[in-house]
Amino acid sequence: AAKDAGRGQYRIFEPMMLEASEARRRLLTDLKEALSEGQFSVFYQPIICSASGRVASYEALLRWQHPELGTISPETFIPLAEDAGLISEIGGWVMRTACEAAMHLDDDVIMAVNVSPLQFDDSLASRVVNALGATGLPPRRLQLEVTESVFMRGADRTAEELARLDAIGVSLALDDFGTGYSSLGYLQRAAFAKIKIDRSFVTKSGENCKESTAIVRAIVALADSLGMITTAEGIQTKAEADLLRALGCTQLQGYFFGKPAPLETYLAPLAEIAGHVRGNG
Ligand code: C2E
Ligand code: MG
Ligand code: MG
Ligand code: MG
Repeated sequence: AAKDAGRGQYRIFEPMMLEASEARRRLLTDLKEALSEGQFSVFYQPIICSASGRVASYEALLRWQHPELGTISPETFIPLAEDAGLISEIGGWVMRTACEAAMHLDDDVIMAVNVSPLQFDDSLASRVVNALGATGLPPRRLQLEVTESVFMRGADRTAEELARLDAIGVSLALDDFGTGYSSLGYLQRAAFAKIKIDRSFVTKSGENCKESTAIVRAIVALADSLGMITTAEGIQTKAEADLLRALGCTQLQGYFFGKPAPLETYLAPLAEIAGHVRGNG
């Protein structure tokens, strides 16, 4: 789709094509081998502090390099991995890889890892503890991003699991906020440190949509009064960066500041990124 042109490099398999069960079966078979065949890698995208222009954290984003089909989008293969019962194992690998990567970064930089609702089984807390233990990353430097859909499997059980994770010392972020059921009650079901404002609101606010701008203002006010920080997702232009900063978002993330890329991309030029941000701010 035209609106996804920015990510064209891995749009070979559109989710729709998976309806062809042949293609889906094949991808599923290949997915089972992907971890042991070393076809996964983790890319990292910087998240910028609005006030200082410095990198506050990185989000870890999984990539699958298929030997014949090229790079396949997580939006395609994560649902497959969930259906196939592979998500906990894959997610555990991502967690460990991202924690290891974080050990190469400044020790005030946080590493954020996406966690699927289907990873919320008995092994999640122990996988988190194992990843921290194996890499030596302090728990306060790991953040777990979950979407509201995590509460769909039973809000009480989920709240218990989130409390267990909170007790380990990792922080929690509510991802893609505003796109799901957005029951405000979820905000008090766990100790969320952060709300991530979905890209759709950012884009529309940038197009002068009054309603989207009002929604962003309301989310920021809500987060502020609850003592949570906000990250605006999907910032693609300087105008959007300026706007979302002016609307009070604590942090900014998007292609304007940096695309998801291998860790090495961000190891040397940290100062350069910050300079770029300041130069534009
Ligand atoms: P998400 O967690 O909301 O991640 C943000 C997505 O927006 C990423 O897509 C990122 O590349 C993209 N993005 C960032 N900035 C911009 C921008 O300025 N413009 C545009 N158009 N897009 C931007 P990606 O990497 O394709 O991941 C898609 C989704 O797949 C993620 O959404 C997340 O829900 C899921 N995902 C990715 N990695 C993992 C993982 O390791 N585990 C799990 N469970 N889910 C993952
Ligand atoms: Mg995320
Ligand atoms: Mg998101
Ligand atoms: Mg998402």
